[in-house]
Amino acid sequence: MSQFTARSVDRRLLMDRSVAGRRAMRLPQPDVPVAPLPGASMLRKELELPELSELELVRYFSLLSQLNFSIDTNFYPLGSCTMKYNPKLNDEMASLPGLSDIHPLQDGATVQGALRIMFELQEALGEITGLPGVCLSPLAGAQGEYAGLLVARAYHRSRNDLKRTVALIPDSAHGTNPASAAMAGLEVVTVPSDKNGNIDVQALRQHVDERTAVFMLTLPSTVGLFDPSILEITKTIHDAGGLVYADGANLNALLGLTRLGDLGFDIAHSNLHKTFSTPHGGGGPGAGPVLVSEALRRFLPTPVVQRADNQYRLAAPADSVGRLNGFHGSFGILVRAYTYIRTMGLEGMRQISENAIINANYIQVRLKSDYDLAFAGRYSMHEVVFSARKQKAKGASALDVAKRLIDYGVHPPTMYFPLIVPEALMVEPTETESKETLDQFIAIMQKIAREAEDTPEVLKSAPHDTPNSRLNEAAAARTPYLRWRRDGVAPAQSSAPAGVDAGDRR
Ligand SMILES: *Cc1c(COP(=O)(O)O)cnc(C)c1O
Repeated sequence: MSQFTARSVDRRLLMDRSVAGRRAMRLPQPDVPVAPLPGASMLRKELELPELSELELVRYFSLLSQLNFSIDTNFYPLGSCTMKYNPKLNDEMASLPGLSDIHPLQDGATVQGALRIMFELQEALGEITGLPGVCLSPLAGAQGEYAGLLVARAYHRSRNDLKRTVALIPDSAHGTNPASAAMAGLEVVTVPSDKNGNIDVQALRQHVDERTAVFMLTLPSTVGLFDPSILEITKTIHDAGGLVYADGANLNALLGLTRLGDLGFDIAHSNLHKTFSTPHGGGGPGAGPVLVSEALRRFLPTPVVQRADNQYRLAAPADSVGRLNGFHGSFGILVRAYTYIRTMGLEGMRQISENAIINANYIQVRLKSDYDLAFAGRYSMHEVVFSARKQKAKGASALDVAKRLIDYGVHPPTMYFPLIVPEALMVEPTETESKETLDQFIAIMQKIAREAEDTPEVLKSAPHDTPNSRLNEAAAARTPYLRWRRDGVAPAQSSAPAGVDAGDRR
């Protein structure tokens, strides 16, 4: 259980800790002429800044870091998201001055090492996925999807096949898939799953026609199962002239075992912040490289890194769909993923996935009598999806189980996803956890299952030990209250859209 409980924590905000005149540092006298300030009309009348000593400042930020749930402190089985350990060696490499003190506009001749890292990462990802054309610049999985779908559209247009405007997407897909397809100007048509959680191949055949631009598929599916019809599926799409897109955000079940390209996929993206051990979520930024077959390479976004005469340089593919962002992507993240791949080696890749799969199946087998499996009778890949419908019938939902896990120091699994599973709890232990941690998690889940039977109210009021218990999640997203105010009063709820500061406008 967390030692940083609400009781032991000074929860005052930074501004409320301020004492006039206290300093954490003093600036030296300027040794250059002081530039005049802009006119008074351009200056704020009032600028309240916190005044604290260095120790107070260090304590405040240390406290914040401890309130943050993290993979470095606790088990974090967030399905689909692959919250695996981020090796500290990755950070050390990314901090090397030759990699951290460079600028993207620097002359290429002066940053050959950095370009070589990008080139070799492209090559490694191409080898791991069997899709040799790689552009590293997408800043998230969703941007990688968008880039990949632009490539699909560019391919059909290049053949003057202009009526291909439909993206077929399974009903189990991650929400970013239909969103990216819509942003790329494609019409989304949903394909149903069968009773085993696989693609319903008969239904798929009925949807495929001369308007099919691309079929987007997550493999293993979002219920953690490998679809045994995959070769039939990719052939069906190809026979109809369409392309097949793999949502490879999470490759943790496939490394070294099979390759997307060999299964017939034409395009994919992969999240370095999932499979390749770079920081995730609040620890971001992310990186979602887009990967394509040889035939589609010329449509990739710009820039890609090429090698000629042992020189590395940035280049624009011949029929590129264009530039996705200012520079070349999240370079520091690319260095971390490269370090991870080089540390593990290609042999290590296979071990990663084998262990991830064993860990998920160990949890499946040990918990399947306490929680219903979403799809019984099959082995899981890297994650296992339970349904808390049994617990729900006793009065405790998947949400309540998840909230109770926080009391026991475990991050909740992914909940209510995929949408086709009622009361879904999607558990992904990853390969980096020990058997002792898995056993502890299993014991906690069993205990919660008993509580759901005997004292469901304990689950319904959880978590009991955090600074805040249950938040109004809609209000937290729609009307965030992000600024300190002298009176300490949150602005009144307003109908301002998400991300807009609804209160204090100075
Ligand atoms: C995480 C994830 C995404 C989106 O990746 P982001 O980096 O969050 O944009 C897409 N598909 C699947 C299956 C995922 O798990």
